[in-house]
Amino acid sequence: MADATIFDQYPLDQWKEPSHRIMDRFSLQGKKGFVTGGAGGLGRNVAAAWAEAGADVAIVDLPRTKETLEPLAAELSARYGVTVVPLYCDVSDREQVDALKTSLVDTLGTVDVAFINAGVNVPGDDADEPYEVWRKTIDINLTGAYLTAQIAQHIMREHGHGGSLVFTSSLSAHNANFIAGGPSPVAAYGASKAGIYEYARYLAAALAPYGIRSNAISPGYVWSGIFEGRIVPEAHDMMTAPVPMRRFGTNEEIATAVLFLASDASSYVTGTNLQVDGGYSVY
Ligand code: NAD
Repeated sequence: MADATIFDQYPLDQWKEPSHRIMDRFSLQGKKGFVTGGAGGLGRNVAAAWAEAGADVAIVDLPRTKETLEPLAAELSARYGVTVVPLYCDVSDREQVDALKTSLVDTLGTVDVAFINAGVNVPGDDADEPYEVWRKTIDINLTGAYLTAQIAQHIMREHGHGGSLVFTSSLSAHNANFIAGGPSPVAAYGASKAGIYEYARYLAAALAPYGIRSNAISPGYVWSGIFEGRIVPEAHDMMTAPVPMRRFGTNEEIATAVLFLASDASSYVTGTNLQVDGGYSVY
């Protein structure tokens, strides 16, 4: 038999193996993961997708979400037969995030996948925003992403295995988000989300030697729950006017994108930003 060569790592027709199933690449069977902002629309739907795909999941959010998180974790565990636990943490608080690291290892054993998603859009986030608005936005969105991604990748490296980090950036990382003739109030928000995107890219380069991938998604307008009861049909039409698909996205359309980036289906994808925005970013 010929000696193995460096080219053996590039199989040409894996589908010819009788046991090969490409859909297995989307599985998270046996994986452990956590989702920040887990009580929110995007977070809880990604937690559900990961649980259905076979992962044990920690849903992480602020203590004030306890009444939502506890029944959610119980429902997902029962429905999908995996372990889903609620964990409480303010992602902008370094001590709380350090404690989260201990809780994650105690409850799940390790972390293979992390959805770094907690975020806020604080009212008054325009050109004349008060310092407090800027500071709160950067603290939660950007510093929170740094702190929680840091514990995720440290656990992966300490435990000697790879993994996947998925960050929630935003359409607002790439433009001023046009509504009704002008920019929407996303001054610090957009800056924080652009920072997240670049941080995700940096980690992709730095962590590839450890088998850790790092990617971002940039959702456009998603009907995640935050707009419910806040906008009338006319506002819906005005907001979606610059969106080629003329509608909001859904939580499920985010969850499928995040499942792709978390799973081995995207095993050669790192350092990228996946726009999930109905085409808004083409303009
Ligand atoms: P959401 O408000 O339903 O969820 C956000 C969650 O983050 C909430 O459960 C909240 O309690 C949690 N959170 C806030 N501050 C926190 C903190 N300090 N520590 C821990 N958790 C905290 O909103 P969503 O629409 O699900 O948004 C999720 C993410 O997606 C956010 O980062 C948001 O900026 C981003 N995003 C949303 C949209 C959209 O249209 N919905 C578009 C682009 C990006």
